[in-house]
Amino acid sequence: MTRRDDPDALLHAHLRAQRQATSALPPPSIIPAPVFPAGRQFRGTVRFPCPIGCGWFHDEHPGSETPGPLLLPVGFTSEDIEDALTARAAAEGETRRRRIEGAITAHYRSAHPSH
Ligand SMILES: [Zn+2]
Repeated sequence: MTRRDDPDALLHAHLRAQRQATSALPPPSIIPAPVFPAGRQFRGTVRFPCPIGCGWFHDEHPGSETPGPLLLPVGFTSEDIEDALTARAAAEGETRRRRIEGAITAHYRSAHPSH
């Protein structure tokens, strides 16, 4: 067993892949800075309030999302696992960004059509 095959190394690879995917995201255009509401019932909640401040918000729960499948080639190596984790984190980050932008866009259309 090489060092890259032990669970700690894989965990670090996973965390590194997540960081890379997060930093690789383009700067958000319409996504406001998130807030983290206080209270036990909101633990893990990332809230995106209406930029105009009307009181509307969109909540995300990134910690409770089930990760998608890892796509690995036959005879995969530790490097393939790292690549797959990077690709999955990037895809999930993109899905999340589109979901948030979609919610904000829909809110603007219905509540603030003049903006
Ligand atoms: Zn609003």
